[in-house]
Amino acid sequence: MGAAGARSIWSMVALYDTAARDVVEIKPSGDTLTMYTCGPTVYRYAHIGNLRTFLLPDLIARAFDYQGTGVRAIQNITDVGHMTDELFDRGEDRMLLAAGIENRSPEEIAAYYTDFYFRDIEAFNLRRAESYPRASDHISHMIELIVRLIERGHAYEVGGNVYYDVTSFPSYGNLSRNSLEELQQGHRNVEADPNKRHHADFLLWKAAGPKRVIHFPSPWGDGYPGWHIECSAMSLAHLGDEFDVHTGGVDLIFPHHEDEIAQSEGATGSRVVRHWVHSQHLLAEGRKMSKSAENFFDVRDLEKRGHTDPLAFRLLCLQTRYRAQFNFTFDALSGAERTLDRWRRLVADWSDAPAPSRAAGGRFEERFLRAMNADLDTPTIVALIAEVIGTADLDPADKVSLLQGWDRFLGLDLARDAGKELHLPGGASELIEQRERARASKDWSESDRLRTELSELGVEIEDTPSGPKPRITR
Ligand code: AMP
Ligand code: ZN
Repeated sequence: MGAAGARSIWSMVALYDTAARDVVEIKPSGDTLTMYTCGPTVYRYAHIGNLRTFLLPDLIARAFDYQGTGVRAIQNITDVGHMTDELFDRGEDRMLLAAGIENRSPEEIAAYYTDFYFRDIEAFNLRRAESYPRASDHISHMIELIVRLIERGHAYEVGGNVYYDVTSFPSYGNLSRNSLEELQQGHRNVEADPNKRHHADFLLWKAAGPKRVIHFPSPWGDGYPGWHIECSAMSLAHLGDEFDVHTGGVDLIFPHHEDEIAQSEGATGSRVVRHWVHSQHLLAEGRKMSKSAENFFDVRDLEKRGHTDPLAFRLLCLQTRYRAQFNFTFDALSGAERTLDRWRRLVADWSDAPAPSRAAGGRFEERFLRAMNADLDTPTIVALIAEVIGTADLDPADKVSLLQGWDRFLGLDLARDAGKELHLPGGASELIEQRERARASKDWSESDRLRTELSELGVEIEDTPSGPKPRITR
């Protein structure tokens, strides 16, 4: 793991770079940070594991934005293509399989699930990327890239299929620490393709079989692109020949990102991605959450079980750093819900607190910046919030100003309840009035009795110079 984390004070955002195997400071090469993220394959709803991975570029963008650096984020939508090499090599893809199962056209499937994806990211407070290029709109870019790879001696054609020649790219395997010798043993459970020169060569373009519904003309005949070439083509088209950060889930390190490097650098002749950053998996019942393992939940599944605020899941994610696995449970989600409710209630209660006499939050702000920049140490920030809330010598106005500021990074909508009308339970308003009358006539025992009665209804009263301030406690 190198010297990861040895340094703890960074003046800018530092992230764990998969290629460097260390935490390194991210210095954008231009005025803005440029970032590409492998987006969803839109043949099904995104599950909450996918959402956890899409939280990573959101947090990176927010961390830079918090410190005044703009971000150009691009995220593709895989709307043609497959998910695994196994399926691809057999000429199948998940879009088409889903179309067959749901009896709809692949375009209808893609449009339907893309729409839900955008709803989910909005509910999860993920900032919109600058654009969401679709694979289906970039076929010509992919063909151009493949032509370039053939010209530069990195790819070869056999019978309408085009393969990447891994032996032409000496650093193949560096990102994932795979050597070609190991890969030769057969890293996939598929029959060897006799057209390949090397077992680890991968398809860039595949000839369309007679049953293939979607196919495109190309210099090699009708066919369709490989999955890996999509991301090379779209990142180069939208961010140019070099960009700062590329994110995705850890399962994409090999072969997807290894192949992307070979393609993009093979075509340009120079380094394209400056930093690779990967998000760890969300587990359920101890195993990676996935559609195929049938241990997945999406936003609608959570709603059906009464967990109607997706931001509680966002807080649950923030309680673990992006590069550690964690196991999803409904108990943990309920715990995050209670915490978030409490924080929002406090922010609401404090938001009309008188302005602080002095800005006392500086020491906390410093610790917040340090944690955010130290590889997005969100668990430390969550603990810091609890500490701020519990600090007796900090004015409520200071507390609320810290929390609201930090929420620009956390995205938890902490001020959601501020300024909202309180919906008091039936009878509470009358009890509050009676209690005011008792206080006015200095009947303290009656006033205390009414306070207890209110408390049983779930209403706490704080007596402030401007009158009683009710708060709902459950
Ligand atoms: P997909 O839509 O299947 O292409 O996946 C979208 C993203 O979700 C990819 O970056 C995957 O690496 C990531 N991903 C898939 N399963 C999980 C999981 N259980 N936890 C976290 N991320 C995941
Ligand atoms: Zn990708």
